Formats: sequence, C-alpha cells, structure tokens
Amino acid sequence: MQNFVVSARKYRPSTFDTVVGQTHITTTLKNAIRTNHLAQAFLFCGPRGVGKTTCARILAKTINCENLQGDGEACGACPSCQSYQNNNSFNIHELDAASNNSVDDIRNLNEQVRIPPQYGNYKVYIIDEVHMLSQAAFNAFLKTLEEPPRYAIFILATTEKHKILPTILSRCQIFDFNRIKISDISNQLIKVALSEGIEYEEEGLRIIAQKADGGMRDALSMFDMISTFSADKKISYSQVISNLHILDSDYYFRITDFILDGNVGSLLLIFDEILQKGFDGHHFILGLADHFRNVLVASDPATHSLLEIGDDKKPLFLQQSSRTSNGVYLNLLSLASAVDLNYKSSKNQRLLVELCLLKMANVPATIASIEAEKKKHSLTDSEKQSFKTAQPSLVVKDQSKLDRTQFKTTINIKETGKAQSNIQEAGDENSKSLTTELLTEKQDLSVVGLLKAKEQYIQWLKTEIKAPVSHWSLAIEEHFENSTCYLTFSNDLLIEDFEKEKIYINRFFSSYFTQLPQFETRISDQPVAEIKPYTNTEKFNFLGKKHAKILLLKARLGLEAN
Ligand SMILES: [Zn+2]
Repeated sequence: MQNFVVSARKYRPSTFDTVVGQTHITTTLKNAIRTNHLAQAFLFCGPRGVGKTTCARILAKTINCENLQGDGEACGACPSCQSYQNNNSFNIHELDAASNNSVDDIRNLNEQVRIPPQYGNYKVYIIDEVHMLSQAAFNAFLKTLEEPPRYAIFILATTEKHKILPTILSRCQIFDFNRIKISDISNQLIKVALSEGIEYEEEGLRIIAQKADGGMRDALSMFDMISTFSADKKISYSQVISNLHILDSDYYFRITDFILDGNVGSLLLIFDEILQKGFDGHHFILGLADHFRNVLVASDPATHSLLEIGDDKKPLFLQQSSRTSNGVYLNLLSLASAVDLNYKSSKNQRLLVELCLLKMANVPATIASIEAEKKKHSLTDSEKQSFKTAQPSLVVKDQSKLDRTQFKTTINIKETGKAQSNIQEAGDENSKSLTTELLTEKQDLSVVGLLKAKEQYIQWLKTEIKAPVSHWSLAIEEHFENSTCYLTFSNDLLIEDFEKEKIYINRFFSSYFTQLPQFETRISDQPVAEIKPYTNTEKFNFLGKKHAKILLLKARLGLEAN
C-alpha cells in the first residue's frame, strides 16, 4: 500500500509565487531579498493555516540559495535548496511556543543562535505561536532579539497579535496575513484534484473552500477526508454537504420563494424538515441571512465580484433578486439578524425561528403597501413649489417643543428609494434647508413632522380624494401637545364634518407615523355672531370674516363655497 501524504504537506508551496492569496507579503519579501534590505526579525500575524510557516520556510530557503534568481526566488536546485525541500536543512530551526514556552526552552534557543551556520549564510529561527511564551521566556528572548548575530533571522508567527508585547512588536517587521479568498482556495483545490486524478464538482470544492474560512490547510484536510471517504474517488456537491453537515443551498432558494409567496404553511414544514435532518436552528438562520446577502449583492452588477458563489448558482441568485425589491431583502436580513442576536438567550429557540419565518412571510406585502402609499403621496415639482410658499395657518403654542433636528420627512421619495433633497421649511423666518431621506420605517410622531405631513395631507386630499376642502384646515385655532392635536371650531357642524374627514386623516398618516395623532375638538366659546351660519356659503363667509387666511386658502385651492 502506498504511503498517504496529506495534501497540505504534499502541495505546500515551495516558492513565493506559488503561495496562495498573500501576494502583498510575498512581493515585499522578494523585493527585500533582491535589494538586500532584509530585516532581522519578522512578525507574521494572521489566522491559522493561511501560510505563515510556509512563507517563513520559503524565506529561509531563498536567502540561503546559492544561485538566487533575478526575480528574488530560490533556484530550487542547489544543495541548500535541495536540503530545504527534503526537510533536512541545518539552517532552519522551528520552535512551537505552544508546547515549548518555558525559560529553559528559550535559553536553549539562545545557545543555538550563538553558533554560526556551517553551510549557507543564514540561520532562520521560526517561533510559532509566539504569544504563548511565558513572561520570563519573553524576557530571556528579548536580549537575543535586541542584538542578534548578523547571520540570524527570526520569524515570529502568531494568530493573536494583540497578545504580543510592544517591546517585541517594535523590534519586528510586521506582516499581516489575509484570510484566503474562497475563490483562491477553490482554484487551488481544483489544481490538487487534477494532479491527484480526483474527479470533482466545482460547487463541492467551493463549499469546502467556504467552510475552511480562509485557511488553506483546513481546506486541504477536508479535501483529503472527503476524497478518502468517497468510494469512487470523486468529490461531488452532495458528498461534500453530507460529509461536512452543511444544509443544501437549495433549501434557502426554496425558503426564499415561500417567503416571497407568503406561503406560511410550506415555510413551517420545510423548517421542520431541516430540524429533522439534525440541523441547528441558529446555523439555519445564519445560512439564510447569508443567502439574502448574496441575493442583495447579486442585484447590482457593480457588486457581482463580492458574490462568492459558483458560476452555476449565479443565475439562481439573479433570478431571485429580480423577484422583489432590495427593500424586502433588507427587511428579511434584519429579521434574520435579530434572531441571531436573541437565539442564545431564547427559551424556545424553535418558536423564535418559526416566528421569524412568519414575520418574513409578511414582509413583501407590507413593503408593497408602504411603497404604494409613498408613491401616492410624493409631490410633483410644481406641488413642491407651492408647498414652499405656503403660509402656515397654525398656532403652535409651545415653540420649544419643536425639535427640528428630529424632523424627517418622507416626501420626494423616488422609486429607487435613496433620493435626497433639500426643501425649505414653509413660511419659517429662520427657514433652514432640511435634508429629507428615505425612511423604510415609519417615523415617530412629532409636532414638526405632523405639521409638515399636514400640508402634504391637504394637497393629497385635494388631488387624490378630490375633496373640495379639508375641514381640518377650517379650525380657527390649533395647538399640539405631545401626540394630541387640539382643534377649535366655530360650530358643531364643522366638527361633524371634521369627524367624517378623520377616515382620510388616519389613512394618510398611518403610512407616515408609527402612531396616529389624536384629535380633541371643541367649539369656540367666543360669541362670533348673532346668527349661526348654516349653509356652506354662510359658513364660509362667516369664517372668512373672522379669518382672512381662509379666503386666501379658497383662492389658492380654487374652491367654490356652495
Ligand atoms: Zn538554490
């Protein structure tokens, strides 16, 4: 039987150019070697399995090469290079600080450092997991690091940079290794599969790469494990997901379709099926959130490069992103992340996820109705112009309650939803330009918000409902306290009409505010006339005498009193 060499070792890069996903580091190192500007101490930081030790070994090999190439790479053929490749070089010393972290271990190392190399120019000391050294060991090592012999190069590697003492940091050239991109890992896996003669499905390798979380070593170990399990020497998508216990992405596509269809029954059943298969609710929600993220990224060609999925799956994401607006997916994402936050502390985790799925199924319809309302209420340019010049006909008793900074209005929402515009505050001497922004959520009820929305409401009542006049605007006095609007009318007929108008007021304001304004009405206690006006014309003329603004309003709205 042939000896099995793990792929992580067999396919370990032996030149800078073959290191995957760390070009910013390998380029710098090659340049330093070529120009003879090599530091004596390096700190390699980064997650496990991303190539820190590999780069350290390549560096050791390259600086001892007897026939260095013009591009800064080792020749790979000289006796020194050969000894590195066979792992029997005398010039490389590796110390794992996780298991050898005592003062004695460091003293041994210090002894070794004093002996010059017998072959080659440099001795390279690699100290892995250097943050595990004890305080005393650190101190013992510091002396050596301060005055190293000319031929000694130290490469310290750590997964936890924040645990390294500043005295060490300041003496090292620091390199931060990246997590390797999923596409880089899966390309490397393809190379290994081809060279091993292993059949593969690209999506299977991509799932391995994704699961490896940026570490090539982990990816290669999973690759080995799955190819060993596989009887026919094939790595297929279904084998990978069953071996790594990953939920088939097909589930997420189906669930998203059920959500968009508002199909509550199927959602609950499919979630039950997932739990039956032994998957964890928390992982499920995280996977679903990831799915929504990919759909959002797919919706914009500019962000397609962020889509770390197989080419065969891309059309599916595009298709799903075209089914509804980004607003829907944003809301779904935020529901999923709320579950993620509360999952650990929840007493009934299954119910938490189920409730979330039910809410999700409700999102598309809610967003659609909000968007329809907003579209209805958005003003045309000419309407905005008249809105700018409109005079406030209101008495606001407590000016200090006006919090202008909180003011947000939802007018001028374009379909894309990200429009910003400045509008002048109507009739205000100190008018400031206010930035409007899209609110996917309704705003809290505030006095200023209410005043603004009232102007829009009156426009809407005129243009959309075709009502001749808003009885609200016929109130002779108006003031606000908290969420209540106190209106004084000159007679009870007006109050009666106003009460009827409230259906429209509530309909309009419910799409703007989280809470509806309350109204308190009363009849003015000032005797305004001997004869109570009765017909509409009488009422109007009577009010017009008392409040000139009503006549203005009549003129502006082109109304007829009859
Ligand atoms: Zn060489």
